Amino acid sequence: MRFSPFGETFSLNKTILIMPDPQITKDAVIIGGGISGLATAYRLQKAGLAVLLLEKSAKIGGAIRSEKVGEFLIDYGPNSTLDTSPKIGDFIKELGLTDRRVNANAEASRRYILKNGELVPLPMNPPQFLKSGLFSFRAKLRLLKEPFVQPAPENKEETIAEFVERRLGREFLDYAINPFIAGVYAGDPDRLSVRSAVAKIYALEKNYGSLIKGAVKGARERKKRADTDKTKAQLFSFKDGMHELSDALASALGNNIQTQSVLEEINPPSNSNGLYSVTYANAGKKITVQTKSLIFTSPAFVTAEYLRPFDQLLAKKLSEIFYPPVAVVFLGFEHKVPCRPLDGFGFLVPKVESRKILGTIWSSTIFPNRAPNSGMALTTFVGGMRQPELTNLEDAELTDVVLQELKSLMALEGKPDIVRIKRWQKAIPQYELGHQERMDAVERFESANPGIFVSGNFRNGISVGDCIVQSEAMAEKVLDFCKHPQVSENVNVVS
Ligand SMILES: Cc1cc2nc3c(=O)[nH]c(=O)nc-3n(C[C@H](O)[C@H](O)[C@H](O)COP(=O)(O)OP(=O)(O)OC[C@H]3O[C@@H](n4cnc5c(N)ncnc54)[C@H](O)[C@@H]3O)c2cc1C
Repeated sequence: MRFSPFGETFSLNKTILIMPDPQITKDAVIIGGGISGLATAYRLQKAGLAVLLLEKSAKIGGAIRSEKVGEFLIDYGPNSTLDTSPKIGDFIKELGLTDRRVNANAEASRRYILKNGELVPLPMNPPQFLKSGLFSFRAKLRLLKEPFVQPAPENKEETIAEFVERRLGREFLDYAINPFIAGVYAGDPDRLSVRSAVAKIYALEKNYGSLIKGAVKGARERKKRADTDKTKAQLFSFKDGMHELSDALASALGNNIQTQSVLEEINPPSNSNGLYSVTYANAGKKITVQTKSLIFTSPAFVTAEYLRPFDQLLAKKLSEIFYPPVAVVFLGFEHKVPCRPLDGFGFLVPKVESRKILGTIWSSTIFPNRAPNSGMALTTFVGGMRQPELTNLEDAELTDVVLQELKSLMALEGKPDIVRIKRWQKAIPQYELGHQERMDAVERFESANPGIFVSGNFRNGISVGDCIVQSEAMAEKVLDFCKHPQVSENVNVVS
């Protein structure tokens, strides 16, 4: 049978392709059923491509994992994400999830930082900053110097800690940035690259010579682009938790998803057929499909092994990306117990406070339906780069550690009615020094191996929102490749 696998025109919004038997040939095989893989596959399918998504585990969603236990709703992975780009809202709308979306309660805009054993509100604007007890008078004065601090030399890649200490001073690093990095990356500012891990902050220095000047001018530019400042973006989830997003994508993809399926072999295109031949194992069977393109959205250390036969150096670079463990401890109380007011998002713990938890979110304050009306729900994070060993504690011991910390920090009394623990052995990719070089190697690899694409949360941002935006861009790249393949369009398939 001779056919051209792709039609003449491509558009993300049009179904246009005359497809060959999907049992034999796919346009795109996507590895990984987290938000990155699902969103990419969805976009490609919508554009008319024949897609197949292979997910190793029995569940789709990857880090997105919600569970209902009685009247409690637990999100073991992301509990919410920020609406930082109009693309995110459009995507939610397109999936028909607008009515399911819930925005965080206004009260949740208050966030606390632990200082000297007390929870102190994080100032959210200049007047609050001036009044705040979180920073000393000296630290506040130090900020006046910021616009005059010289940028780092071009050839020096700085850690977040070096960058922040140089521009804003030590106290700002300890009591604003360190807890923020623990909250986002479960990471260590002494190891993360400022250029890669907080690219927007780094860009302020690069483009404006100062964070303060950049913040003012950047706001004007964002307005033009209709993008939203992360500090002002709406935080949202869904009525039944974040898994509504991955479930909606999975149901749109239907049979084009194969769970419990592991890619085993990749054979590059032979002669001029332009198709990769990939074999995967599913329920004891080995299945081979031909595909025009292959998109990896698996974690970096997994993708590294698949790509090792193609490019040893790339594999080495991808396997260098470290993922620390994180334990998520959910405590559900059927009835409110004595504790400080849960009047905010929760709190983060700076390393200098020497505690055994990274922070706690007050889940039942942020969104409705996370606990019975009479009760409350708390989600605490333990481990990360700071204390990975704590994630190895037995469940009872880990619960005890969390309860003791919450007693001391939130005056929490009483026992929870339910406790659920999820340990992520490799939780979040760390964008450490040298990350950009690793990503440059990914780009070179993609150019040298047309048809193979590398995506996932280690590439252009770790938040769910970042992964959605990144997946849209990845889908465009794949579609563009399909429109202008660098191999013959006429292929020979033996059926
Ligand atoms: C504890 C925790 C809390 C978080 N909190 C937030 C938050 O509040 N807000 C936010 O925006 N973000 C949060 N994040 C980050 C965000 O959830 C993730 O970065 C994002 O969901 C990652 O999506 P992904 O698809 O790139 O990767 P993943 O979700 O890791 O998906 C990769 C998929 O690949 C599969 N896979 C692995 N090997 C193979 C193989 N050989 N073959 C096929 N499939 C394979 C895996 O099973 C997995 O399903 C959190 C992350 C964690 C871990």
